[in-house]
Amino acid sequence: MEVTRRQALTAVAGAAVGAAGAVGAARLTEHLDESTPLPFYGSPVSAVRPDRSAPSATAGSVVWGGPGGAGDATGQRRVALTFDDGPHPDWTPRVLAALEAEDVPATFFCLGRNVRDHGDLHRESVGRHELGNHTFDHRDLGRLDWSACRDEIARTSGLMEQTYGSAPTLFRPPYGHLAGAAVLAAAEAGLTTVMWSAQAREDLVAGHPDRIVDDIASQVRPGSIVLAHDTGSEDRLVTIDRLRAVIGRLRSDGYSFVTVSELVAAGPAPSSR
Ligand SMILES: [Zn+2]
Repeated sequence: MEVTRRQALTAVAGAAVGAAGAVGAARLTEHLDESTPLPFYGSPVSAVRPDRSAPSATAGSVVWGGPGGAGDATGQRRVALTFDDGPHPDWTPRVLAALEAEDVPATFFCLGRNVRDHGDLHRESVGRHELGNHTFDHRDLGRLDWSACRDEIARTSGLMEQTYGSAPTLFRPPYGHLAGAAVLAAAEAGLTTVMWSAQAREDLVAGHPDRIVDDIASQVRPGSIVLAHDTGSEDRLVTIDRLRAVIGRLRSDGYSFVTVSELVAAGPAPSSR
């Protein structure tokens, strides 16, 4: 079957949506055999600058977790809690209060538009929690070219630096969608791209909200990065409402809590935590 470039790109984008799962995979297989060309430069999947000029970075990194167990130079069972999509007045203050009550640091991946509108919510987070870049408008970077990815990242980092006095060093792509252009843009911005290795799965505990504690604890290993959200659909309140219970459970399992930068750094964990 003859497949046009546009159809091929549509298939890629459709598969990248991911939630469709098998449907997306089937479409990808159907349209993208090895004879189907993708544009060499300028598409979302390209990690080459569209004009083929040299990238401004020679390397970048993507992390799903930190060293754990025997691989952790600190010898500790450490975990990093992360909260995406805020700051927002609905839940961010509740998350901050729970973290404060438990004396636990976390990492917040902020949307630029929310920093613009509600940035004050994190005024006191600076120096205690870590604030990372989650793009300005939560667009799917799997659909954006290099310059658009660059713009999403740069606008957000610039605003965060202006608002909080320091630019972020971490970046998390919305939906965990990471194509070549986004990898390149994040590397050129000097950001470490942060995925996750455990997550709050509110959909799996519908009707049994207390099970969220067990569900999260069952996924966590030394070095895990845990994904949660501090704004969004109502079902996510299942986690927010039980955040102190989740922290207590992980503590009883022997975990201590660090920011993502602390988790992925080779150095020792702060002794106070
Ligand atoms: Zn998000």
